[in-house]
Amino acid sequence: MAAAVAHPPNVADSVQQVVRKKLGGFVGCESGLGKSTLINTLFNTSLYAKKNVPRPEHERPQTVAIESITADIEENGVRLRLTVVDTPGYGDFINNEEGWKPILDNIEARFDAYLEQENRVNRAKMVDNRVHACLYFIEPTGHSLKPVDIEFMRRLHTRVNLIPVIAKADTLTDDEVVQFKARILSDLAHHRIEIYQAPQYELEDEETIAENEEIVRKIPFAVVGSDTVVSTSDGRPARGRAYPWGTIEVDNEDHCDFVKLRQMLIRTHMEELREHTNHALYEKYREEKLLAMGV
Ligand code: GDP
Ligand code: MG
Repeated sequence: MAAAVAHPPNVADSVQQVVRKKLGGFVGCESGLGKSTLINTLFNTSLYAKKNVPRPEHERPQTVAIESITADIEENGVRLRLTVVDTPGYGDFINNEEGWKPILDNIEARFDAYLEQENRVNRAKMVDNRVHACLYFIEPTGHSLKPVDIEFMRRLHTRVNLIPVIAKADTLTDDEVVQFKARILSDLAHHRIEIYQAPQYELEDEETIAENEEIVRKIPFAVVGSDTVVSTSDGRPARGRAYPWGTIEVDNEDHCDFVKLRQMLIRTHMEELREHTNHALYEKYREEKLLAMGV
């Protein structure tokens, strides 16, 4: 599993429009679901900062520990510093049933670090390393959620904005994706797991509302990751995966939901993910913690 975060420890304010934080978290129920590849795919887009860029796939070792990767990306002329916490998978832990624990501990430790700063006399220089979103990678079985998926999301949904994604969606047909999505949503509802719900603001213009609705309707996003450029059927170069029957393009919205996921994380819902983390998830954690301490 992996968790993605976005936080910029010390971003230079000299660049005029540096958005100082954003986060996502990547989690999957087992290793090999394409988490590291998707992080790479996310960062490759309009990447201009060369430092800390994730390495290409052939050089990239299997993820063995929770590690964070930071890179700057540019979106509509705005620079964002995105930090992603990548994690290994359940299958790599001795006790599969507790695969959620290291991730939950990591998320809570970041809340604790923030709480500790809030309690300082001088709160002028707060560093926010909280996780603002967690992408949960679902194996593309086409059937239903597995017990480990349910356990993981049940343990995490009160602490982080959960965004489920169907990993390696290129291995399913379009019909299978549609049916699998419906099944996942009904499983989640049945187990009362609250995934991230984007609110609708009445003040927004119609176009924005329509754009947001289109994004939200795609959840759980069916994603495909790739850091290689292939040749499409009409001879264009595109990031994607080549098959004997054709090419799946990562950035083509007819092929997968990667573009929608990216838009949600870094454009349409970034502020909202941060606000919900701060005002709802963190606030609740803080209250529980202080009550337990008898404060
Ligand atoms: P992780 O263990 O979850 O970080 O998975 P990796 O990103 O290391 O990928 C594991 C393997 O799956 C590699 O061989 C990738 O090339 C492959 N892979 C990654 N993303 C996709 C995808 O979207 N579709 C397909 N078919 N394979 C993928
Ligand atoms: Mg990995």
